[in-house]
Amino acid sequence: MRNIMELRWDPVLGEWVMVSSVRHARPWLPESFCPFCPGAPETGYGWKVLVLENKYPMLIPEPPQPPGHQFYVKSRSSGRTLIIVETPQHDLDDISDLDVESIKIVLETLKDLVEEERGKSYAEYLLWFRNKGVEIGVSLTHPHSQVYITPFIPARVERELANSRKFTESRGGCLFCNIVSVEESEKVRILYSNDSWAAFMPFYSHWPFEAHVYPRRHLQLLTDLGEGELKLLALTLKAVLCGFKRLFRKPSPYIMVMHQAPLKGDYSFYHLHFEIYGVMRGEGVLKYAAGMEMGGGNFTFDSVPEDNASKLRESILLCLQG
Ligand code: ZN
Ligand code: ZN
Ligand code: FE
Repeated sequence: MRNIMELRWDPVLGEWVMVSSVRHARPWLPESFCPFCPGAPETGYGWKVLVLENKYPMLIPEPPQPPGHQFYVKSRSSGRTLIIVETPQHDLDDISDLDVESIKIVLETLKDLVEEERGKSYAEYLLWFRNKGVEIGVSLTHPHSQVYITPFIPARVERELANSRKFTESRGGCLFCNIVSVEESEKVRILYSNDSWAAFMPFYSHWPFEAHVYPRRHLQLLTDLGEGELKLLALTLKAVLCGFKRLFRKPSPYIMVMHQAPLKGDYSFYHLHFEIYGVMRGEGVLKYAAGMEMGGGNFTFDSVPEDNASKLRESILLCLQG
């Protein structure tokens, strides 16, 4: 097989595709062996949260310069792809099963990573995300999340930046602060809130059960959060993700992503937030992103966001009651 690691520009959609056939050489391990458990070749002992390089790196700090093309645009795959092992405990189902203090350590690790990486020349963006559930192809069940430090701004974030910049220029103020205040006054889509954070199912939800989590304070990066805000974020994520877990008899698979500002430049109009996409429509029924969603780009929502919000809110409430 060809050994290729490069970024390819899609001139039709105007976005980058990361191409990598490179696999980090690692000692052979039996299929049943968990590479994230304490005592594995790369993990050792005595940690609460661990950051590992991805076995299939899409991006590396010093990538080769790809050969040029007569027509298409390519670029170097500079950056990093990391795994955050969130706990030494293999058997936990989800990050929401950790106590608040342990979730806070995960967030602090992530915050340190943002601080550390923002000075690197390749680092334009740091995307943190968490895929949960075998239904969406997660093969390693040991609780973990991933970080992509990219030399470009991810396409969806570019769209959010363009639209929120437009809002600020034409109407003044922050688009996201406005959304939070509308949600708090209408209340029907609010899922959970505390002194520093508000979680709601968006008016414009794409997925059957979706939660967006915003800090009340207008800020751009994870590193802008104070100690108290970080602790309340841990509490908020625990409550909301537990709500997803208990929504149906089987834990609902989900994707969680952090949207923060790009690491370089002034994006003071932007507002940090977290998005959680629950992909179950109902008991045992998955919502697929198919023809209309993938091919057309627009989502179909086959119930009412306000009704699903009340179901998820009740599930979160049950979690909080223990
Ligand atoms: Zn494990
Ligand atoms: Zn704001
Ligand atoms: Fe977003």
